[in-house]
Amino acid sequence: MVRFDIVSQGEELVSGSTTDTNATWICAELKERGFTAGWVTVVGDELDGIRDALASAARRARIVICTGGLGPTSDDLTTDAAALAFQLGTAEDPVALGQIEERYRSRNRPMPPANRKQAILPTGAVLLENQWGTAPGYWLDVDGCRLYFLPGVPSEMKRMFAHHVLPDLAARYALPPRRTVQLRCIGLAESEAGQRMQDFPLPGVTIGYRAHLPEIHVKLHLEPGVDAGPVIAEARRRLGDYVFTVDGGPLPAVVGALLTERGETVATAESCTAGRIAADFTSVPGASAWYVGGAVVYANAEKVRQCGVDPAVLEECGAVSEPVARALAEGIRERTGATWGLGVTGIAGPSGGTPEKPVGTVHIAVAGPDGTTHRRLKLPFDRARNLQMSTALAEDLLLRRLDGR
Ligand code: ATP
Ligand code: MG
Repeated sequence: MVRFDIVSQGEELVSGSTTDTNATWICAELKERGFTAGWVTVVGDELDGIRDALASAARRARIVICTGGLGPTSDDLTTDAAALAFQLGTAEDPVALGQIEERYRSRNRPMPPANRKQAILPTGAVLLENQWGTAPGYWLDVDGCRLYFLPGVPSEMKRMFAHHVLPDLAARYALPPRRTVQLRCIGLAESEAGQRMQDFPLPGVTIGYRAHLPEIHVKLHLEPGVDAGPVIAEARRRLGDYVFTVDGGPLPAVVGALLTERGETVATAESCTAGRIAADFTSVPGASAWYVGGAVVYANAEKVRQCGVDPAVLEECGAVSEPVARALAEGIRERTGATWGLGVTGIAGPSGGTPEKPVGTVHIAVAGPDGTTHRRLKLPFDRARNLQMSTALAEDLLLRRLDGR
């Protein structure tokens, strides 16, 4: 087992203003590939502290990933700390400088003099080009340990990791080929997924869970030679129809892919979720092929005006009711001419509940060519999570009509 350590650098990480998501992400990526996590050290903008953290990590592990502190400002100290930790000099790297200058040139902006600092690397460092930001990365070999230095910005770090670190690790370590199958679930708690997968009967399978709210991901790591078919079938049997895709993308993307394949469209009428489904759908590239548009119908008057909901039904059943959810779905479908109409109305909380309709009561409905389906939700979360789950479960109700679950 090859062991790795992580050093996360940044004052914001120790002052409580930023969560160290870089370390979590890297741990998951490397563990999945068979590396063993050792220490994760978080250190602020303190030269001696970073120096000690790097030196200890390099003593303990054969791989160290350090993120942050490569920026142009005086509180970005990682390179100086690395030089101190390993008794190296520092020098300006002409290739790094050229890359930073080129990045500014391509955006027609002059390079601020401060950015020149980012081209200074410890001697012996191997430059890793950053095509996604200005801070170049690098690696350093010290006494049998390779330390990778990556920028702190999570989006840049992830790309640098995928582009430079993973290929280098794959070239240096003969990792056993492992196949990973990912089942994405919606509406199932992580603990419930864990219970359902307990005592998995087939050998050669390691199971991992990741809450990627509102989705729960169950990962099956298959040892070489294990046949994936029966493993997937058994996992599906246990997790039931909460699984909306095997090795597919996020929920809205799966909805979009199926609609595109069928040449169909969807429109939304949202009361409590107020555009969250619309935002979710349009976050998928190419959404214009299948998402028509929709209405945020928060007030009763808007439910009537934009979706043609019968005021008498609103009066009799209340806005949060099955008939109104159905009328929203059918109304928006009819008015937009979309193949499918999606309606949502509910009480997200914390106030507004009654004994008959407690907080977390949400009605979702899908109208389509072969009729309208409805589901009543009773959600136990706070306002934000209730809205997040309502959004996802409404999307899932549509997906169930499309994939016949
Ligand atoms: P840059 O040149 O872009 O400044 P940098 O290497 O100096 O890169 P930092 O200044 O340390 O990076 O961090 C940049 C941003 O990335 C900050 O907004 C910070 O909150 C975020 N960030 C840094 N480290 C982490 C981390 N471990 N987890 C999550 N976010 C982080
Ligand atoms: Mg910075």
